[in-house]
Amino acid sequence: MNENHFSGKSDRARALLAGIRDTAMQDLSDCLDTRGLYVPVLASAMERFAASLVPLPREAACKNGCAWCCRLRVGVSIPEALVIFHEIRSRATPEGLGFLKHRILTTSVQGDTLDEAFWRSTRCPCPFLDMEGTYHCLIYKIRPFSCRAFHSLDEAVCRKGYDQGMEIQVPCFPLYRASVDLYSSVLIQVSAQKGLASFQVGFIRALEILFTDDTAPERWLQGENVFLSAKLAEFTED
Ligand code: SF4
Ligand code: SF4
Repeated sequence: MNENHFSGKSDRARALLAGIRDTAMQDLSDCLDTRGLYVPVLASAMERFAASLVPLPREAACKNGCAWCCRLRVGVSIPEALVIFHEIRSRATPEGLGFLKHRILTTSVQGDTLDEAFWRSTRCPCPFLDMEGTYHCLIYKIRPFSCRAFHSLDEAVCRKGYDQGMEIQVPCFPLYRASVDLYSSVLIQVSAQKGLASFQVGFIRALEILFTDDTAPERWLQGENVFLSAKLAEFTED
């Protein structure tokens, strides 16, 4: 779920995406400068970004309960992982929190969650996928931008990729995908500009760190490279 969707776009599309990116970067940078480097500041930026997304076009095949794509590796920015963890911890009951922690740690012991091949070969469901029959995302409102961006015009293609355990070109609206995906890059770039160790990380590995080390958020915000072991190998700084 982490391809570069900017390649092959028309000049007009590139200009549009650059405009969205620049506005979002300025917004986040100003907020962090005036309100400080805190998780709630990142959370409010994420909320604003999510509220500004255009709806998924109707022609997309995606619908509630369709979740072939929720068995793929998810890459996120560290601020997204922090905000999602913060929201889960502040809203979940102790039992719910224990349940999610167990699911994340159980997934992590099954194999290398940073490796795309692990997800494809095991068809391991995302720990946030409700496996009790509905196949809904348990954190739908606060899900990562890469999850929001991923969509398909043909569910059968998604299912084929799942069945065959292989990477498959899913038909989609590239501009929509790129316009949603870019918010993750904005969070990475702006937090790097503020002096933080910032790169794309595996969602589940980052959460494993957060669920097992209470000091991780604060240390990261102080500039420590806390999430290095969650860094996706193919991530390269721009
Ligand atoms: S991307 Fe594919 S698997 Fe995921 S919800 Fe859309 S149609 Fe279903
Ligand atoms: S976070 Fe939600 S949308 Fe994303 S892969 Fe997991 S279950 Fe699916």
